[in-house]
Amino acid sequence: MSAENDSAVGEQPASKPKEPAKRASRGGGAVSSARSDKTVDRTAEAGVRGAAPAEPTPTKATPKKAGVRNAGAKRARAKQVAGKKPGAGVKTADVVEPANKEVVAVQPATRKAAAVKPATKKVGSVKPAAKKAVAVKPAAKKAVTVKSAATKAGAKAKGAGGAETKGASPGAPAGQPVGGKPESHLAMVRRARRINRELADVYPYAHPELDFRNPFELLVATVLSAQTTDLRVNQTTPGLFAAYPTPEDLAAANPEDVEEIIRPTGFFRAKTKSIMGLAAALRDEFGGEVPGRLEDLVKLPGVGRKTANVVLGNAFGVPGITVDTHFGRLVRRFKWTEQEDPEKVEAEVCAIFPKSEWTMLSHRVVFHGRRICHARKPACGACSIAPLCPSYGEGETDPEKARKLLKYEKGGFPGQRLSPPPDYPGLPAPPLGAG
Ligand code: SF4
Repeated sequence: MSAENDSAVGEQPASKPKEPAKRASRGGGAVSSARSDKTVDRTAEAGVRGAAPAEPTPTKATPKKAGVRNAGAKRARAKQVAGKKPGAGVKTADVVEPANKEVVAVQPATRKAAAVKPATKKVGSVKPAAKKAVAVKPAAKKAVTVKSAATKAGAKAKGAGGAETKGASPGAPAGQPVGGKPESHLAMVRRARRINRELADVYPYAHPELDFRNPFELLVATVLSAQTTDLRVNQTTPGLFAAYPTPEDLAAANPEDVEEIIRPTGFFRAKTKSIMGLAAALRDEFGGEVPGRLEDLVKLPGVGRKTANVVLGNAFGVPGITVDTHFGRLVRRFKWTEQEDPEKVEAEVCAIFPKSEWTMLSHRVVFHGRRICHARKPACGACSIAPLCPSYGEGETDPEKARKLLKYEKGGFPGQRLSPPPDYPGLPAPPLGAG
């Protein structure tokens, strides 16, 4: 009969003698409910004494008695074994303290000690101590781990406070190895796209910063922008296009006159050669029109992939990434690529973004490079994408000092275009010679 059945019987005093006996063996509750039958109770108690070993119901008395008997048997066996193998007892006594000798002297104690390991460890004076000492080791390791983590955190903090640690950011170290693992490609792509979204919020008015009215003007202006600022080009080209408005006009110009006009842009002799050469090529090979294909554009004198992509993206609406000095510097700081070669940079960055984003991404990144993330002293303390940038700390991190480094409309200064788009929030650039 199961225990549950026994209890149920106990709640309803039964006249059968066997049932109370079982109830009594279970404790006071059952007994009190069967007080009316003392004879049965006595029978039950007798039953307990007599039938305990056979009764599967656990009682306190039964294991003790069994334990005593077992202990007696063990002692007897111990005496036999101790007589035969005195060495075993001595050995144990050496390990265990004298307080335990009484137990150890009897061989079963050795067994007991082996069976109840924690007790032996507590009693033992040397070995457990040694074990404890060993057990400290992991703690020491932990301490070292914590220390190194703290050191890293300290280093990051240092980086955030200055330029000592490159790649430390104020929050999570974006793009930095976490737990020794480098950033996965997927994580980098996600971070890159977040940066693009953030830059789109910061520069909703991003645009090409060269003034132009048609593809020809944009092509010439882009060639002239090498090794100088867009502002200087914008200040120079109005005079040039006033004198030579078409490719035919420029191709037929006196080189010395052209040199004189474009002198402010630097490298004016080489640039004169380029723009007059491409004007002649447009006249001779493309009917005086700028071609709308990359492979045609790059065949023109002085026109590389960068210039071709600027023209395609902004004059023809063909998506393209323009890798100029700002773009290359920033995407390496963002850890989107480690390439130095502009063509490889272009290929790797193109792979991160959908084609539809290429042209505007170029403008946003260049805007950020010109206004905040400068080559020599980036204004990290005033940078909205600092939490996403692994290079936070390369520049000024103090917000007040960083704000003083901002350029163009972010710093309250005129932009680079003399005739900027209507949504441009800054001031138009002054014409050449105005200051
Ligand atoms: S200014 Fe500093 S934080 Fe911002 S993108 Fe440049 S390096 Fe990164």
